[in-house]
Amino acid sequence: MLNLRPLVHPFIISVIGDGHSTSLWYDNWHPLGPLIANLGARIAIDVGIPRDATVSHIIHNTSWAFPITQSLELNEVRRSLPPLLSSRVNESDYVRWTLNANGKFSIASLWDKLRTFFPKVGWHRLMWFPGHIPKCSFITWLAVQHRLSTVDRLMLFGISNSNQCSFCQGSESHDHLFFNCPFSQLVWDAMLAKLRVNWHSRTWSEWVTFLSNKKGKSLHVVLTKLVFTATVYHVWIERNIRKFQNKSCSGEVVAHKIYSMVRARLLSFQVLPPSQADWVVNEWNLSGQ
Ligand SMILES: [Zn+2]
Repeated sequence: MLNLRPLVHPFIISVIGDGHSTSLWYDNWHPLGPLIANLGARIAIDVGIPRDATVSHIIHNTSWAFPITQSLELNEVRRSLPPLLSSRVNESDYVRWTLNANGKFSIASLWDKLRTFFPKVGWHRLMWFPGHIPKCSFITWLAVQHRLSTVDRLMLFGISNSNQCSFCQGSESHDHLFFNCPFSQLVWDAMLAKLRVNWHSRTWSEWVTFLSNKKGKSLHVVLTKLVFTATVYHVWIERNIRKFQNKSCSGEVVAHKIYSMVRARLLSFQVLPPSQADWVVNEWNLSGQ
């Protein structure tokens, strides 16, 4: 049974009351999961809160008091804090099983989840590679684990909210947002044309597997990974801008931002990776290298 603990843990969440019995950094109370396990021990140092702090450390009266910083990671943590219910702030925290509507554990619900759980296929190679863009890899790393605070996930944490996609009339989930949504498909189409890669109507998980298995250090392989992570990043940022700032850019503008970011990254390399195809250098305007 002990071997099952890592599989079971993600589905047990702590619902916050007064925050006194939940570890701020180690327990699964935040939509991003246990914060130190997922974001690294550095996060506690960066924000200046001890590693043995409980969640009560960042509650002031009935509101969150999480420090404001310039860090992308810490901003994601702050923005996706679950709601504090004023009716519960004087009560104890409790744990809840997320796979059943009644919050109680059952073997059937766990089995049902695990048999469809996204398999690990070495996808770390897709985001952590020489020349990666850290903020894009970070967001992609969360997306591949279905850890971003999409509204379907926030609803698991008790936030009653509309689950409507920020781009269309669909329901927001990782699969929808990064793959099935007409907006992201438009962006992917534009970027894949720049890579001369066929769409092949893959699902999100098939696409992740396909790219994770791409081996070698050629310019095209590096470029493909940079485009993939930058596209996930920019779709997520555009989604947040629409959701929280009420502004928007077209798919074409987002695609151009991705192109500019990836091209700038490639131009920052001291030596470009070897390329077997001249079209890559021309398409991405890298001949000044
Ligand atoms: Zn959509």
